[in-house]
Amino acid sequence: MDLHPGDILQIDTMLAGVPGMTGAHLIRADQPALIDCGTQTSAATVRDALAEAGLGPDDLAWLVLTHVHLDHCGAAGDLARAFPRAMVVVHPRGARHLADPSRLVAGTHALFGRLSPAIGGLAAIPEERIVEAADGHRIALGGGRSLRAVWAPGHARHHMALLEEAEGILFAGDAVGVQMGGGQMYPTIPPPEYDLDAGLASLDILEGLAPERMYVSHFGAVEDPGESLDLGRRAQSAMGQAAREAHSWAPGDLDALQRAVDEAWPPDAALGTPEALTRWMAFNWLDNNLLGLQGMVEREARQE
Ligand SMILES: [Zn+2]
Repeated sequence: MDLHPGDILQIDTMLAGVPGMTGAHLIRADQPALIDCGTQTSAATVRDALAEAGLGPDDLAWLVLTHVHLDHCGAAGDLARAFPRAMVVVHPRGARHLADPSRLVAGTHALFGRLSPAIGGLAAIPEERIVEAADGHRIALGGGRSLRAVWAPGHARHHMALLEEAEGILFAGDAVGVQMGGGQMYPTIPPPEYDLDAGLASLDILEGLAPERMYVSHFGAVEDPGESLDLGRRAQSAMGQAAREAHSWAPGDLDALQRAVDEAWPPDAALGTPEALTRWMAFNWLDNNLLGLQGMVEREARQE
C-alpha cells in the first residue's frame, strides 16, 4: 500500500502473486470509494488492505469499476459481501454482467484457458446494490468532493474513467494503456470489443480534462499525464492502422498482423525491462492485444 497526495491509497492486488501488475485505488473521504478491485483471487488481499487502512465493514461507500474485465471487477462480488453498505458503480453496459456473471466468466475463461484458476470468477451482485453510471454521473465523496464518470470506450464498450474533480486526478483504467515494471506506456487492446476509433475519441476526451495527475490500473501513477495520454494515442493509432492495412493484404494471417503492428509501433520500450516483460507475459496480454486487433479488423470487414 502506498499513500499518495489527495488521500489516494494505492493497493497492489497482487494478481496471481505478481506485484506491480494490477492496482486498486482507494480515495479516503467521508464517503470512501474504491476504484477497481482486482480479480476474485485478489479479494482477500484487497479486503485486508482496506482493513489495514482503517475501513470497517460499514465504512466503504462506493466500489467503482472502470469496466467489467475480471482483472478489474472479479473481486467485486466478494467485496460487496464484505462491505454490505457499499454501492457498486458501473457503466450501464456492464451492469447486467455483475448481476449475472455467467457469460462474462465463461468468455474470460475461454480466452485465458489454463490461467483461469489464477483469475477466478465473479460472485453475483444483487441488483439493488448496482448503480449504472451515465456519462457525467457524479459519485459523492462527501466534504464537497466528487468523482465524475467519464465514458471512455475503446478498450471495451463498457469502459469509463473517473475524474476526482477537486484536484483533477484521473483514474484512467485501461483507456490509455499499461505501464509496468519500468516499461513505457503501451496499449492494452484485448478482444472481444476493442475499437480503435472509439479508443482515440476517448483519449481526446481524457486529454480535454487536462488532468493534474493520472493513475492507470496497470500500474499506478504516471509521471506526466499529458505526455502519457499523447503516447497512448500515438501507439494505439499506429497499431490500429497497421492492423487494418495488414488485414487488407493478408486477411486472417496473425503472423503478418503481428509483424505489421510491431513495425508500426515497436514494443521494445514498453517491454524493455525484465520486470515489464514478466508482467506482460504473465497473462498473455501481448497475444491478447493481437487478438483484439484481429477481432476489430474482422468486425470492420463484416460491416463494410
Ligand atoms: Zn485491465
